[in-house]
Amino acid sequence: MAAPGENLKINGERLWDSLMEMAQIGPGVAGGNNRQTLTDADAEGRALFQSWCEAAGCSMGLDSMGNMFAMRPGTDPEALPVYMGSHLDTQPTGGKYDGVLGVLGALEVVRTLNDLDVKTKHPIVVTNWTNEEGTRYAPAMLSSGVFAGVHTEEWAKDRVDAEGKKFGDELKRIGWEGDEPVGARKMHAMFELHIEQGPILEAEGKDVGIVTHGQGLSWTQVTITGKDSHTGSTPMPMRKNAGLGMAKVLQLVDEIAWSHAPHAVGAAGHIDVYPNSRNVIPGKVVFTVDFRSPELSVIEDMEARLKAGAQEICDEMGLSVEFEKVGGFDPVKFDETLVGRLRDASERLGYSHRDIISGAGHDACWINQVAPTAMVMCPCVDGLSHNEAEEISKEWATAGADVLLHAVLETAEIVE
Ligand SMILES: [Zn+2]
Repeated sequence: MAAPGENLKINGERLWDSLMEMAQIGPGVAGGNNRQTLTDADAEGRALFQSWCEAAGCSMGLDSMGNMFAMRPGTDPEALPVYMGSHLDTQPTGGKYDGVLGVLGALEVVRTLNDLDVKTKHPIVVTNWTNEEGTRYAPAMLSSGVFAGVHTEEWAKDRVDAEGKKFGDELKRIGWEGDEPVGARKMHAMFELHIEQGPILEAEGKDVGIVTHGQGLSWTQVTITGKDSHTGSTPMPMRKNAGLGMAKVLQLVDEIAWSHAPHAVGAAGHIDVYPNSRNVIPGKVVFTVDFRSPELSVIEDMEARLKAGAQEICDEMGLSVEFEKVGGFDPVKFDETLVGRLRDASERLGYSHRDIISGAGHDACWINQVAPTAMVMCPCVDGLSHNEAEEISKEWATAGADVLLHAVLETAEIVE
């Protein structure tokens, strides 16, 4: 099957204009967006997206979680569609590109194929996944998770926001609950274009990042118990200082993460000290160790060494220690064939690239459980995201969408 020619490119100006037009809907207070899921602004953004898809000759499918699927037909009625997309919902103080680039970049791919009258064997579908952000309704990636069978639809629709409004009721209210059963669609492949949300690509001057893995996460809550006592009158040999025990354990966490450099990371961001008084030696500390790595074996090794090492530290200090796993998800390994096509596309188009690991969760991470999936990223300024000041350049957006175009075309198979 023929690879697309190196001159085949999307229309970067048109993509940028669409990004700016979508950003008018649900404006933030500081130049970004507040287009949270299942709000009136979300409904308005969906309607604009649908009108653009219909103008591009696509038919819109809608499932009962509000996931949107705009299809450009292929020439083979038996061939499964190639999907691409991301999410149009934003954080309350979100940027104009997180998620939106992946949806509108995918739409731009379809518009380009129409301009050039390119036909493909497989249909091509542009997707908007409902509630990726998870701010109004936890957890993040809720509807792609239902699609992939990670959550039940019933459970998802019972999620409530801070005002006590149910997800299912709000989806109905905004008029975007479809009839199609969630997850019934079969996919030939799925691609997601997304901004990096980190600083690596910009710092290294790369045009695109080829995502090989999604980082896995492990949260272990550690409780160390000693004895509260007066900081002035307790002799040093008689102290059972849980705070000091924690300090030694946190040093160990750092050493463990460094031992798996460069991809593993570890820290404790949540720490509670009891009684948290200036003149009392802490009798108890509770903290959560956050370990991340793209390799499951590394995460397991880090967890095991934390437990063994912390136990030894606490035994020596006369402290007791308990561990509870309070969260986590396994690393994601994206489909090697599709990853290879993204890499080849970058080469063919003359874009500088590097392999990268996604530190954040994305819809593609769940869809990877039910279909071959891959992701491509473009840089963002200072790695800033989930912030109204989130910024990318028109050139970065264009490069990412060009690479998406080529990889999707190769997968959907051009009909000569
Ligand atoms: Zn996103």
